Amino acid sequence: MIEKKQFYINGAWVDPIEGRDCNVINPSTEEPCAVISLGGQPDTDAAVAAAKAALPGWMATPVEERIAALEKVLSLYMERAEDLAQAMCVEMGAPIDMSRSSQVGAGSYHLKNFVRAAKAFPWDAPLGDHAPNDRIIHEAVGVCALITPWNWPMNQVTLKVGAALVTGNTMVLKPSEESPLDAMIFAEVMHEAGLPKGVFNLVNGDGVGVGSQLSSHADVDMVSFTGSTRAGKLISKAAADTLKRVHLELGGKGANLIFADADEKAVKRGVLHMMQNTGQSCNAPSRMMVEAPIYDRVVEEAAAMAQKITVGPASEEGRHIGPVVNETQWGKIQDLIQAGIDEGARLVAGGTGRPEGLNKGFYVRPTVFADVTNDMTIAREEIFGPVLSIMKFDSEEEAVEVANDTPYGLTNYVQTGDSDRANRLARQLRSGMVEMNGTSRGAGAPFGGMKMSGNGREGGSWGLHDFVEVKSVSGWTPE
Ligand code: NAD
Repeated sequence: MIEKKQFYINGAWVDPIEGRDCNVINPSTEEPCAVISLGGQPDTDAAVAAAKAALPGWMATPVEERIAALEKVLSLYMERAEDLAQAMCVEMGAPIDMSRSSQVGAGSYHLKNFVRAAKAFPWDAPLGDHAPNDRIIHEAVGVCALITPWNWPMNQVTLKVGAALVTGNTMVLKPSEESPLDAMIFAEVMHEAGLPKGVFNLVNGDGVGVGSQLSSHADVDMVSFTGSTRAGKLISKAAADTLKRVHLELGGKGANLIFADADEKAVKRGVLHMMQNTGQSCNAPSRMMVEAPIYDRVVEEAAAMAQKITVGPASEEGRHIGPVVNETQWGKIQDLIQAGIDEGARLVAGGTGRPEGLNKGFYVRPTVFADVTNDMTIAREEIFGPVLSIMKFDSEEEAVEVANDTPYGLTNYVQTGDSDRANRLARQLRSGMVEMNGTSRGAGAPFGGMKMSGNGREGGSWGLHDFVEVKSVSGWTPE
């Protein structure tokens, strides 16, 4: 078994001071695939001290050099693409083809977008022609704790590390204990990029340990967190005494409004998006809301679509979906499917238990419920598995009301041939993102939510803004 017990602190791989062994389980086989170490307070302190010591130097490094460092990271990342893909396949169950294309691809996409955004960013600029002696300077927040989840591991790591690095912050990354292997390869990339010691550090650990130690640490100036709403609340509380900046990207319960005039691929698109990554995406369109005249046809089509989705081991090539990440998630998803049945939703595809022929591994049947009402548990809770809920609506007003009747506000989706209606709904839906008619968001578009989905924006120039302080200077002598 692979042993990966060291942490990356102050430019070197070091043994834990207070480590506890933790097996990383391959969800396709339920067998351990690696052993890592979960750090303790002295490990957290050492990483934070290294980041603090490196801060003045990295902040003062000219932005052109920081951009060049990011470009170097991007090119080294590409060289390690296959290693990263294999790691995510084994530790969190992303099917290998999807891991290579989407999981690894998300990371390079974000790094590229940050390079472009950083080149155009107003790092240091006059307030305006009316005030030539005023200067607005953007500078690093300081030492950043970056706490990431397992579901899109490289996506999250690059969104945080890329932005923190180019804006002149120093950082401690604590990846999810479920998916530490890809993050450790990423740390090797950071090492090879030749960054000054202490700019980037990695400590493995769990939420109660290293996670909360970082959140409450007096020498950490900002926490950027992606994960559950549950942990987001705990982090906010832990960070309160030191009044550090807290940036949160949390869960979601996206509505996908399908009107009778939607294009013919709308239903297929909605089902596939829901099932992608085995339903483990915060922006999954998990509530498919359908206009009454086409409701029966859509239910049939969605059920047939879900039945066609194949499930299998992540190591196999192909377009199937893999297992969910671990036994706890598997059990939680089973309970929620059962709750859907018990509360009277109509099961039209999938159900509880493993798919036929898969007796070992955390596999879930692609499941579709019809006749769901918005008060049912499956409509309110983020399931984080391949489970779609279909609901009926009669009017646009009702659709908006129900779509917005959720504690979350990450992404909503609209499918309609009426462009006036689409634009109207884009304004009325309470979410950080609205995607219409299958058009994906452009490069550098901000990613983030409202309400219980969090408060940060990641990616492109908005992602850089979240990692800088804005300094207003008067009496500046124009050069
Ligand atoms: P999680 O919240 O349990 O864990 C995420 C990370 O936080 C891990 O690194 C974990 O160790 C750490 N953590 C847990 N408790 C902590 C605490 N008290 N203090 C500090 N750190 C703590 O979530 P998960 O199960 O790993 O990920 C799934 C969740 O993440 C879902 O709810 C999903 O919607 C959300 N998510 C959101 C986004 C987004 O951008 N909005 C993206 C991906 C995932």
